[in-house]
Amino acid sequence: MAADTWISDMTHFLDQNGNLVKEPKEARVLADYFAAIIVMASYPEPDYPPAYRVSCRRRPQRKPCREEIVGFIDPESDDVVWLCPKCNDRGFISNWRGTIWDMSERGDVEQ
Ligand SMILES: [Zn+2]
Repeated sequence: MAADTWISDMTHFLDQNGNLVKEPKEARVLADYFAAIIVMASYPEPDYPPAYRVSCRRRPQRKPCREEIVGFIDPESDDVVWLCPKCNDRGFISNWRGTIWDMSERGDVEQ
């Protein structure tokens, strides 16, 4: 079974104040996941803090994968590209720059 490729536009998960949507619940769960990936992928140092580690949320054969997600910024499209090296779940996130999870131009790491 081929893994899906998630194409996500972060603005679809934000309300007018730039906060994550709370409804519906599935959207909220996905939004939290993508937000964590953005923080991890846009972190300005190659070695991000362990707290920013993102675990795969997929459950192939109903077993949680939990592999560490790999994320980086595509230099051409500027999308966040992420993938799970174990189950091959993957996706692209656009319109993440300037969101509160964009760590790329921050001098500090406070939320
Ligand atoms: Zn996985």
